[in-house]
Amino acid sequence: MRPNILNPLFAPVESLSGVGSKSAKAIEHCAGPFIVDLLWHLPSSFIERKYYSRIIDAPLHKIVILKGTVESHQKPAVRRLPYKVICSDASSKFTLVFFNSRVDYLKNILPIGRTIVISGKLEQYDNTFQIIHPDHIVFESDRDKIKCVEPVYPLTEGLNLKPLSKAINTVLELMPDIPEWCREEFLEKYSWPPWKTALLSIHRQPSEESLKGNTPARNRVAYDELLANQLAIALVRSSMHKTAARKLNGTGQLTAEIRKNLPFTLTADQNKAIQEITNDLALPHRMLRLLQGDVGSGKTIVALFTMLIAVEAGAQAALVAPTEILARQHKKTIERMLNRSNIKIELLTGRTKKSIRNNTLKKLANGEIDIVIGTHALFQSGVKFSDLAVAIIDEQHRFGVHQRIAMATKGESVHMLVMTATPIPRTLLLTAYGDLDSSRLIQKPRNRTTIDTRVMPISRLEEVINGTCRSIEKSERIFWVCPLINESTALDVAAVNLRFAELRKIFGNRVGLIHGNMTETDRDQNMTAFTNGKIDILVATTVIEVGIDVPDATIMIIEHAERFGLAQLHQLRGRIGRSHRRSTCVLLYNSPLTEMAHARLNIMRNTSDGFRIAEEDLKLRGEGEILGVRQSGLPELRLANITSYKALLELARKDARLTLKQDPKLESKRGQALRILLYLFRRDTVAGYLNST
Ligand code: ADP
Ligand code: MG
Repeated sequence: MRPNILNPLFAPVESLSGVGSKSAKAIEHCAGPFIVDLLWHLPSSFIERKYYSRIIDAPLHKIVILKGTVESHQKPAVRRLPYKVICSDASSKFTLVFFNSRVDYLKNILPIGRTIVISGKLEQYDNTFQIIHPDHIVFESDRDKIKCVEPVYPLTEGLNLKPLSKAINTVLELMPDIPEWCREEFLEKYSWPPWKTALLSIHRQPSEESLKGNTPARNRVAYDELLANQLAIALVRSSMHKTAARKLNGTGQLTAEIRKNLPFTLTADQNKAIQEITNDLALPHRMLRLLQGDVGSGKTIVALFTMLIAVEAGAQAALVAPTEILARQHKKTIERMLNRSNIKIELLTGRTKKSIRNNTLKKLANGEIDIVIGTHALFQSGVKFSDLAVAIIDEQHRFGVHQRIAMATKGESVHMLVMTATPIPRTLLLTAYGDLDSSRLIQKPRNRTTIDTRVMPISRLEEVINGTCRSIEKSERIFWVCPLINESTALDVAAVNLRFAELRKIFGNRVGLIHGNMTETDRDQNMTAFTNGKIDILVATTVIEVGIDVPDATIMIIEHAERFGLAQLHQLRGRIGRSHRRSTCVLLYNSPLTEMAHARLNIMRNTSDGFRIAEEDLKLRGEGEILGVRQSGLPELRLANITSYKALLELARKDARLTLKQDPKLESKRGQALRILLYLFRRDTVAGYLNST
C-alpha cells in the first residue's frame, strides 16, 4: 500500500484545481498521468527579466520589467492598426501596443493615472520606446507576481506554457514534507538540499547550471531516482539469491549426445557460457544470469544445453520467446536437434487452440512434458508446472521486469537465464538489473562472412530492383523490409501491401508477404515457403526483426531506414550473413536526411559490431531511445540521464547494497523513509519482497 503521505501526489492531473479537462489531457500527454509526474517535468530553458527603474537605462530587444504611470489610451484610426496605451516613468514616455485586443479589458487593467508594472520585450519605433503585447501587466501592489526568472517547460502540440506552468506551480505547493531518506553524510559532502527544497529551486530558480544538471539540487533529485532504482533492483536480487534452490547436477548424458550430433563445433564462447551456467546450476541457490550475444552468435544452442541439464536432473524447463514465429522456430530447431531422444517438447502460445492448450496444461502440470516453448502465454497464472527448474527468456528486452518475476514464481525456485541480442551498455545494465551475472558470446560461429552494407536514397530504387533481379538469377534469397509508418498497424500493413503488389508485378509469384496482421497459417506458410526456397523475396514488416533464422537469405533491403533505431537495424541486418555466402544489406532512405540521421546510417555502414553500434547510438541519442523505451522493459529514468550521471549511478548502487546489508527489510527510521522513496518513483512492484520474506 502506498504511504498516505504520497496520496495527494498520485491523484490524476485532472483533479488539480484550476486545470480544465481539456488542458489536463494535454498535460497528461506531455508529462504523465499523475500529479507527481509534473514534478519530474523539468524546465528546458527559462526567461530572465531584469527590472529597470528608468526606461532610458533599459536595453533594447530584451525582456525587461518597467514601472510607469498610465497617461492615455489611443484608439486607432483604422481597425487594423494597433491600440496604444501611453505610459511614462521619470525618464521617458513609452507605449504599450496591442493588436486585436478587447478595449474594455485594456481599460480595466490599465486605468489612466494608475501606476503599473509590466514586462515584455523593449523595442524602439519612430523614436519612441514601445512594448508590443507585454507578457505581464499588474498594478504596483502586485508586482511580486512578475518573476525575474520564469521556467520554460517542454510542451507538446496543443499545450501552452501558461496553463502548464500554472499546474506545475500548484503541484509544487502540494509537495508534502517527507522524512529524509538521503544519508546525512551525502547531504553534507555534496551540499545537497532536502528533497522539497531541491525541487522548488529547480522549478523556480532555473539557471544555466541547473539546466545542464550541475547544481546540487539537480544532482540531489537525480540521485533520488537512481537510488530508488538501485534499491528496487537490489531487493529483487537479494530475494532471488537468498532463495535456496535445488542444485541441478545433470547426468551429462543428454548434453553429450547433442554435442556429438551437432553439425558444427561450438565456439569457445559458447562452451564457456555453457560451463558458467552448469556451474551456477550446481550451486544451492537460484541462478540469475544474462546471456548477451550479438545476433547470429548462437544463443539458442546455449539455451538448449541449459534446459537439458534440468531435464537430466528430472525436472522441467521453459523457453519464452517474444513472438509466435520465433517460438515456433525455436521448437522446430530444438526438436530437430533432439530427434533421437525421447524428450517431450510442446508449444504453448496465445494462438494455441483451446483443446490442445488444455491438454498441454494438463501435461505440464503432471510432468509429462519436459520442455515447453512458448510466448507471453506462458506467464499466465493458469500455466502450472509439475516441477519447473529452469526458465529461459529469449530477447529479454521485449519483456518487462514483472514478466520475469512472473516466470520466476512458476516453480519452487526457478533458475533464470535471460538472453539478449540487443547489446546493453554497462550503465544501462546496471539500471536494469544491478550486478547481474552475465555471459557473453563475442565470437561469431566460424562460417560467417562480413555483410556489405550500402546506404542509398530511395530515388535509386530502380537500381535496387535490377540488382534484385540479378541476385534471384543466382538463386539468392531476399528480405524486403517496409518501414514503420507510425504506431498504427493498419498503415504499416498498407505500406507492405503496396510494396508487395509492386514487386509482384515484376517478380510474379516469387514474392511472398509476411506481417503481424495475417492469420497464423498464412504467416507460417509464407515463412516456410521462403525458408524452403519456394519464394525468393519475402516482403515483411519488422515481425522478422527478432530471431528469425534463414541461413540461405543473403540480401536485406530496408526501406525508410532512417526511421529505425540502430539497434533495430542491427537486428534486421542480423537476419542475413548466416552462412558462408556473401551477404548485402541495402539501407534505403528518404531525402533529405538530417545530420543526425546521416551520422546514424553511417555507423551502420561502418561497423557490424553490435556493442559499438549501441555505444555510438547512446552517444548520439541518449539512452532512452536506444532500445525504444516503451518496448525495452528497462525502467524509464526521468531525472537521471545515465550518460551524465555515471558517477551518481555507482554511488547509488553502493548505497543500495550497503543499506540492505544493514537493514534488509527497510525497518529502521531511514528504511521507512526509503520505502516512501520507492513508492514516490513507482518502484513499488518490489514492495512485496519486503513484506513476504
Ligand atoms: P542468435 O544468437 O541470434 O539467437 P541462433 O542461436 O539463432 O543465434 O544461431 C544462429 C545460427 O547459427 C543457427 O542457424 C545455428 O544453428 C548456427 N550456429 C550456432 N552455433 C554455431 C556454431 N558454433 N557454428 C556454426 N553455426 C552455429
Ligand atoms: Mg535468437
